Amino acid sequence: MPDAHMVRMFVERGALGAIAAAGIAVAAWRVGALSRSGAAAAVVVGAAATFAGWNWGALLIIYFLAGTIVSRIGRSRKERRTGGVVAKGGARDATQVVANGGVFAACALCIPFGIAHAGAAAVGALAASLADTFATEIGTLLGGIPRSVRGLRRVPVGTSGGISGAGTLGMVAGAAFVGGAAILLGVSALFAIVTLAGMVGAMVDSLLGATVQERRWCPTCERASERRIHTCGTATLLAGGREWMNNDTVNFLATFTGAGVAAVLATI
Ligand SMILES: [Zn+2]
Repeated sequence: MPDAHMVRMFVERGALGAIAAAGIAVAAWRVGALSRSGAAAAVVVGAAATFAGWNWGALLIIYFLAGTIVSRIGRSRKERRTGGVVAKGGARDATQVVANGGVFAACALCIPFGIAHAGAAAVGALAASLADTFATEIGTLLGGIPRSVRGLRRVPVGTSGGISGAGTLGMVAGAAFVGGAAILLGVSALFAIVTLAGMVGAMVDSLLGATVQERRWCPTCERASERRIHTCGTATLLAGGREWMNNDTVNFLATFTGAGVAAVLATI
């Protein structure tokens, strides 16, 4: 356990990290990658990361940049292909930031206290999140018509739980990217474990997306949508799944799985 002096040093480092994160969050807000609330939540996650160490802050920045860049490549083509199916496009709000970064932040706060495998869990959570982002973005851009993981029937591009070959390669690439960055930054040497954990987390995301995640329907356009208000302005109706099990809940559970699998595999 660190003594009081050490803890004060961690807190001071976290405060400096919050200032640095605020600069990045404002820039991300200005380019439309984060909403106002999303930027505020990102400052908290950034502070938690630097509480663990500057290299953890660097890993968070690399994760965020990779996800943002991959989301922006071919954006107009992706929007045409999904046609308003996706729950939230564009700027990430606070709920989305917490759904993707909350488990990582909680693990990061445990790292300086020497809690066993908190580091592996933190990297596993980020790996699961980026694996899901890469799978969605690369699958939407380059994949064919996806199939649902449940029953393998074809589903519209952008549907939660839909998988394609390109999306699956993207999933592996996203998890491995975080695992590789973690090695280069010296935060975790468990490349195979965190990559595998990230893939398992993203697969849980697809599985929940295809089963219990709420499915909504726009009665005006007669189209499936994940949005509560469709792009046409009509309130959508619940067409299946659980009302509270939205994309954010599923993302949170996926990152929790990534963290848990990484911590368990690190124990063995
Ligand atoms: Zn509509």
